[in-house]
Amino acid sequence: MAGINSDHGTSKEPLCLTGNCYCKNLSYTLKLEDKNDARTTLCHCKDCKKAFGGAFGLTAKCPIQTFHYTSASGKPTLHVANNGSGSTVYREFCNKCGSYICEYGEQAKDAFRYVVVGSLDDPGALPPKGEFFCSERETWMPKIPGTFQKDKIKE
Ligand SMILES: [Zn+2]
Ligand SMILES: [Zn+2]
Repeated sequence: MAGINSDHGTSKEPLCLTGNCYCKNLSYTLKLEDKNDARTTLCHCKDCKKAFGGAFGLTAKCPIQTFHYTSASGKPTLHVANNGSGSTVYREFCNKCGSYICEYGEQAKDAFRYVVVGSLDDPGALPPKGEFFCSERETWMPKIPGTFQKDKIKE
């Protein structure tokens, strides 16, 4: 199993992905110099359950310069909220269909985008490397084999 920083000399594996919301009002590109520049994780916290409308959140942490809305894309609507532990979380979504595209906390704001993996045209391109808030995992939900497990906040 390749680690987060698997070392294969200098060879990088560039990956160019596209994504959009359900109604295609919003569209974006994700251009990774190396596929390991993205770190996909599940998050079992209550906020992610609400925001995703599912049993867990699934995002890929990507350097901000790799994520761009296309020139044809509409403008995302921004939802800003306190995440319950005093830090501000920004969520970008489509105001026509409600699909959620990305999120970022106050500290990550200028450095990273947490791209909602389900909004990618090929969600399988970025498999998960770990899980956060495992203490809030639904009892029927098994651990993802081969990934790191953390009991607290998404970093
Ligand atoms: Zn939409
Ligand atoms: Zn979460």
